[in-house]
Amino acid sequence: MPVQFNRTKIICTIGPASAETETIIRLARNGMNIARINMSHGSDESKLAIVENIRKAEKMIGYPIPIIADLCGPKLRLGEIKEPFEISEGEELIITSENITGTRERVSTSYKNLPSDVKRGDPVLINDGLIKLEVIDKTDTDIICKVIDGGLVQSRKGINLPGTKLSIPLITEKDKKDIDFGIKNGADFFAMSFVTSGADIRELKSIITGKAQDIPVIAKIERPAAVNDIDSICGESDAVMIARGDLGVEVLPEEVPMIQKMIISKCIEKNTPVITATQMLESMISSPRPTRAEASDVANAVLDGTDAVMLSGETSVGSYPVETVSMMKRICGKTEKKGFYINRMRLRRNKDENSGDFLVNNMTRAVCSFAVDIDAAAIIVITKTGKTARMLSRFRINTPVIAFVEKEKIIKYLTPVWGVKGELIDNMSDTDSTLKRAKELALKLGYIKTGDHVIFVAGIPLLESNKVNMMKVEVV
Ligand code: PGA
Ligand code: MN
Repeated sequence: MPVQFNRTKIICTIGPASAETETIIRLARNGMNIARINMSHGSDESKLAIVENIRKAEKMIGYPIPIIADLCGPKLRLGEIKEPFEISEGEELIITSENITGTRERVSTSYKNLPSDVKRGDPVLINDGLIKLEVIDKTDTDIICKVIDGGLVQSRKGINLPGTKLSIPLITEKDKKDIDFGIKNGADFFAMSFVTSGADIRELKSIITGKAQDIPVIAKIERPAAVNDIDSICGESDAVMIARGDLGVEVLPEEVPMIQKMIISKCIEKNTPVITATQMLESMISSPRPTRAEASDVANAVLDGTDAVMLSGETSVGSYPVETVSMMKRICGKTEKKGFYINRMRLRRNKDENSGDFLVNNMTRAVCSFAVDIDAAAIIVITKTGKTARMLSRFRINTPVIAFVEKEKIIKYLTPVWGVKGELIDNMSDTDSTLKRAKELALKLGYIKTGDHVIFVAGIPLLESNKVNMMKVEVV
């Protein structure tokens, strides 16, 4: 396909290593579909500069780059540390809620309730669980911990307290400020950390609608409670992220692979885009090549059926951001080819007569089945809300789905969706002329060429029907 077309979508976290417009352009040209800003780090000014640079980059490449503003929620972190230092098993480490620059004597956290929330014997994990401590004593301001598993203590690393009930709300004061920042500066998605239930998503959505905004929400699954309430979370959110970093600390690491598979298959069944995140090509933070295990991890997420994969430190602070995204794109591309066969089986096997809209379900299934049979070059769908494109995506067939929509907002909404590429079309009134113009645009943009079999899908009449009811085949 002459135009850029990733089937498995790639999200890159933008940070100091990638904040320049030039680098963002190179990331996009090498496979990035979506930019993520982790609201945990940096000042408002530095985040604003990143947003502006992404907007400049998308103008240069001529295609929208949606921005995810990732709200950190009740994520506890160490404060600044003068110089990183090693701790080993059996030693002590003191964490204080006083505002100090950390040293080997004491390190700080901005979470004031830490000493009152924890009790003796509670585990304290640092840096995605690499360092393990146990609380042995506490004062009004400090907790004194014994080191169980040692490691390097560095500034701003995350703290997890899997055995402690936190007294901090899910949407913090900082999140509220970050929501305003995101709204003011045009965030296209909000990601919500440490979600526990579908009700949490409703709460964030009501804050957003209360500000007269309509910004989609991604639920980050990183707590056992969220895994247990996945049905409701899928129903309430616009996309789901398997946030394996914190998840692998809050549950046992050996539970993560099967949770990942369960969530992906649940999301496909419920038609909710799903993102697999964290440590996917971790070693590429400091190495130009991934480990074989990492390459396999990315490939397996693709085979599980993930809509999107995500890079964090690899692109935000790593030494090889562009090399990492292009490696990820190559692994996904190679793996999808094998996956198509498996997906074809899925297409034939499962019937979803009982769930959702019976006719739309079976219509989109028939379109995909037919596309595979005639080896169609593309499925061109005319869609107002993007729903039909999402329904077509769930079969993960090799035929690209080109969604013609009227609003850039819908292109962005569809960006995380597997195998779908949005394009703008104006004046969606008359069916025949819209289909004709869509075909001409698809030809011009290089999605199809003369002689190709193309399938058109729409709900007609275009202005009235919001349900797909038409399929048309054409030899271009
Ligand atoms: P984070 O979320 O990078 O914001 O912590 C992702 C994860 O926990 O995996
Ligand atoms: Mn997390």
